[in-house]
Amino acid sequence: MREFAFELRLCAHLERSYPVVARQLGTSVRAAGGRIVDVVCLTRGPEFDARTRLTPHAIPVAAIEADVGVGRWRRVTAAFDGSPARARDLAERGHEAGFFDLDRRDGHAVVRRTARYPDWVGDLVGIENKPDLGEPGDLDAQLRHDVSLGVLDYAVLATESYVTRAHLNRLPPDVGVWRVDVDAAEPIEVVREPTRLDADGWGLEPGDAHPGRREVATVPPSEKATQRRRVAERAYGKGWRTYDLPACANAQRGREAGVETLPDCAYKDRLVDPASECGPACPGYAAGDAPDVDPEAERAARQAWDPDASSARTQAGLGRWTND
Ligand code: SF4
Repeated sequence: MREFAFELRLCAHLERSYPVVARQLGTSVRAAGGRIVDVVCLTRGPEFDARTRLTPHAIPVAAIEADVGVGRWRRVTAAFDGSPARARDLAERGHEAGFFDLDRRDGHAVVRRTARYPDWVGDLVGIENKPDLGEPGDLDAQLRHDVSLGVLDYAVLATESYVTRAHLNRLPPDVGVWRVDVDAAEPIEVVREPTRLDADGWGLEPGDAHPGRREVATVPPSEKATQRRRVAERAYGKGWRTYDLPACANAQRGREAGVETLPDCAYKDRLVDPASECGPACPGYAAGDAPDVDPEAERAARQAWDPDASSARTQAGLGRWTND
């Protein structure tokens, strides 16, 4: 629970410095569900504002990389590799994300982009939270994965612990270290600056461990570029307010650094993780309404994210074209 509360409170501070902050994103290329980074922050690329006008949702990478233009309709089945069913699914998902227009022409389902995809992503900063360095868990393997693969531009360890020289020597030298005291006026003390990782080059992704050896996959730059785009899109669509406040009389709005939608509990007198702590099995549970909060409105006010972006499409009429 300490790590969850630490993570939320840190995110509340980070969103004053980064236009996009998101939690719990996978960065692995070859190992599905392999490496989940606690927090990913994005910096602005040259066309960042165009992305905020495009759609509030994550755009599937397959839609971005499909040969579909803005001004010209293409048959759905010609625009995507694979089976017609896969093509229809990708076209639908791109439409639901607000990135594709769909129509029927001459009896065929056709697709075009709603707008050019902008060059909007600056750096990807990955942050691993380990409030207590006395309980490091998989920290070493996690950070070595980040540095070796290089999907991120920077890898940072955030901790509440006092960081000794011995700690620093054990960490990969490219990893930055922040000592965090969320109650301090300046909550982040930079103990060591991160070194830029080789995000444009080849990567090595650690895989399964076996007695005496560990599998390693080489990852070409093109696959890393696709994964970077996927991570950035998921970060944009997801953000970090991914929790629901519980329907409990003891639930209340937690406040941190101007954020007022954190899941706080009067019974436990601390932030709680609603997904794992709340419900009738909790000894303090008392049926009631969840606190009246609007995390989307708060995100829109504090982050570069527009829930009403003009290209967002309604879902009406999807069924009329999906038979081709
Ligand atoms: S269910 Fe338990 S932890 Fe959750 S808000 Fe209620 S008293 Fe607090």
